Amino acid sequence: MRFLILSDLHANFEALTAVLADAENKYDTVVCCGDLVGYNPDPSAIVEWCAGHCDHVVRGNHDKVVAGIDDLEWFNPVAQISAHWTTDQLSPEQLTYLRDLPRGPVLLEHFEFFHGTPFDEDEYVLSQKVAEQSLSALQMPLSFFGHTHVQGGFFRQHRRLGAIEAVQPEEREYAIQLEPDLLYMINPGSVGQPRDGDPRAAYALYDVEARLVTLHRVEYPIATTYRKLKSAGLPDALGLRLFNGQ
Ligand code: ZN
Repeated sequence: MRFLILSDLHANFEALTAVLADAENKYDTVVCCGDLVGYNPDPSAIVEWCAGHCDHVVRGNHDKVVAGIDDLEWFNPVAQISAHWTTDQLSPEQLTYLRDLPRGPVLLEHFEFFHGTPFDEDEYVLSQKVAEQSLSALQMPLSFFGHTHVQGGFFRQHRRLGAIEAVQPEEREYAIQLEPDLLYMINPGSVGQPRDGDPRAAYALYDVEARLVTLHRVEYPIATTYRKLKSAGLPDALGLRLFNGQ
């Protein structure tokens, strides 16, 4: 069994298209760690694609706000504008799809996955302390998560915490050979709005039989997304951040 692991697609159609071309024929099942919508100009196309192709999805914080589950008060002004605009773009059926997405963690046969942490779907794993707490809360040895838009993650061997790096800028992939007795939390990175300094779209593949997770980066036509974002009337800052991956 081979999984395509996606997170934080954020309504970026060009980025998703590039990821799917890059991963073609390399997976059987699609898993999404949340945040289908928000920020970028193609929420309807991304929700449609996920509804038709993702086998397992958890909700992200943007999905909750756009679907009316959470209110907007924790969003910064730019994210608020984008959330209002996104809600207006979606059909009642698409909003229902977002509203019905499960809260993580979701446990599958070979791993679990969630948006933020195993104990709080909205919390960011950016510090060693939260990473330790999250690893202690895992119900399975392997997990995937999103929310930070930073590719990589953490592992624990006995009591030692280790970091998993993102794909290097000059590389296109990075392989993680899973070892027995280790705990893993792996972030595939963000498809639609990377924030780890690398503007390329990010994703991961997991081959269960080979016990191999590979992190990937792929270029996409950011200028096209930027043009669409501008003509939709979305804030310029949301487009500019795509170019530097911040
Ligand atoms: Zn996100």
